[in-house]
Amino acid sequence: MRELDVKEQVVAYCQLLHQKGYLAATDGNVSVRLGPGRILITPTGVHKGFLRPEELIVIDDGGRVVEGRGAPSGEVAMHLTALRLRPDRPVVMHAHPPTCIALSLFKNLRLNGVLPEVILSVGRITVVPYARPISQALGESLVGFVEKGDALILERHGTLTLGRSVHDAYALVERLEHAAQVLHRAHLLGRPPLLPDHEARALEEMYERSRP
Ligand SMILES: [Zn+2]
Repeated sequence: MRELDVKEQVVAYCQLLHQKGYLAATDGNVSVRLGPGRILITPTGVHKGFLRPEELIVIDDGGRVVEGRGAPSGEVAMHLTALRLRPDRPVVMHAHPPTCIALSLFKNLRLNGVLPEVILSVGRITVVPYARPISQALGESLVGFVEKGDALILERHGTLTLGRSVHDAYALVERLEHAAQVLHRAHLLGRPPLLPDHEARALEEMYERSRP
């Protein structure tokens, strides 16, 4: 795919993230590995509802700007870590979906083993323990988690999703937030019952077999 097409895609999905309420104002960031030493990333401080393709920045694997004006996203460490540890996933998307963030504040909630469609589409929802936003520590906090799945919730902060395309990474944000909304409603009614063990295992095996 041409780099301009990738830029236009990133802009379109940033607008969608904003329209859907998955981030506010300048929140959130997206990166795409274009090739060796070339990573496209959203700039810092730009409202994602009004982002333009020419504002995107190209950095190298050390986070140094190769092309573009302005500075890359403040969450660059998180993107570099995810792209380094998951060479099979060239797209990394970070958003702030409200229900995911709300659920991440409470450790005693049941996020896994309840909804079959979540197991089939996401596998397991993993919550990465809190690390300060816009820090090197946030990048390091992903080690041990980002290798295991494509859909992570960052405690007190948001989501991090990985994809083979911008579309795939976005679809996981939608899936995570929808699952979080259902689980939130269920927890309002009580403690949601788990699927029987054998059924959860069978669904997990189906997910592993179909995983791209
Ligand atoms: Zn954030």
